[in-house]
Amino acid sequence: MKPNFDTIAEVLRNAHTVGVASHIRPDADALGSTIAFALWLRECGKEVTAYNEEGSTSKFHYLPCHEIVVMPPSAPQTFDVFVALDTSVKNRLGSVHEAIAPGTPILNIDHHISNENFGDVNYIDPSAPATGQILFEFFQHVGARISPEMATNLFAAISTDTGSFQYAGTNERTFSAAGHLIACGVDVSALSRAMYDSQPRRRFELLRHALNSAEFDDDGRIATFSLSLELVEKLKVLPEDNEGIIDHLRSVEGVEAAVFFEELPEGKVRVSARSKFPRIDVCKVCKKFHGGGHPMAAGARVDGTLIQVKSDFLKALSDEIRN
Ligand code: 5GP
Ligand code: MN
Repeated sequence: MKPNFDTIAEVLRNAHTVGVASHIRPDADALGSTIAFALWLRECGKEVTAYNEEGSTSKFHYLPCHEIVVMPPSAPQTFDVFVALDTSVKNRLGSVHEAIAPGTPILNIDHHISNENFGDVNYIDPSAPATGQILFEFFQHVGARISPEMATNLFAAISTDTGSFQYAGTNERTFSAAGHLIACGVDVSALSRAMYDSQPRRRFELLRHALNSAEFDDDGRIATFSLSLELVEKLKVLPEDNEGIIDHLRSVEGVEAAVFFEELPEGKVRVSARSKFPRIDVCKVCKKFHGGGHPMAAGARVDGTLIQVKSDFLKALSDEIRN
């Protein structure tokens, strides 16, 4: 039977120790959802531990109560229930994965259509544009009081994953959630300033480079940008700095898909792909490279050099655009 919100409440009802975590390279949906859910579980009297592989990075210090998210220990921990949020495949939990003792029941709550149902209970709603929206609707269902701190985390989660309420999937439910969250105490202008108008100068230097070196293929339908390890070193950029740079490429008239290739230290390349039109499914393309995500925003980590991965991926993307 497909689980519903009552199933989630039931799974958590008798649990005393609960772990919560989300994916590597977290965005505000991953961390905001983790924090909001952990805060609610604490209100319910649970003993809660919140992890992320990177802990709470400085970029997200605007999220209220961000300090409850810590890096996972190296030894496995036992929990009555472990909750994975916004995580499509188990290995995207990164080192958190090793901190969960084998046999721990996993509750998997996510909105990725590519979710592999790795939990013991899997609540997957691909119609929700953010995991934060699922959690908001769950809190409403169980009649939870949403504190200003929880509301701000959920609003940040939804704002990020909808591209500030613009992407496909942003619907009446989304604006209704946002409206309710504002009523619960979100200061929209202060939060937006922290999220969108407080970028580190490093990121600006990366953007400057991206704009200078962007390439256009397929008669301008595909825009790409590559980031080599050498450039990371030179500009002193952190992994968190490149989120959102790709949106500048997609925003160009005539561009139908944008791809960002980032060289990683282990002989791998991180691919981040975005589509502008629902008919172009970048998740399908990323799956060919063992990645996943959403139809219009997806990614993969691919073995190989920057040049090779770029060539292989662009060929597959070109096929998707033409068919
Ligand atoms: P981003 O490009 O911002 O890193 O990720 C876009 C979307 O694709 C996110 O929903 C993210 O979870 C998913 N994604 C990114 N990289 C991977 C990957 O290597 N594997 C899978 N399964 N999903 C990914
Ligand atoms: Mn998400």
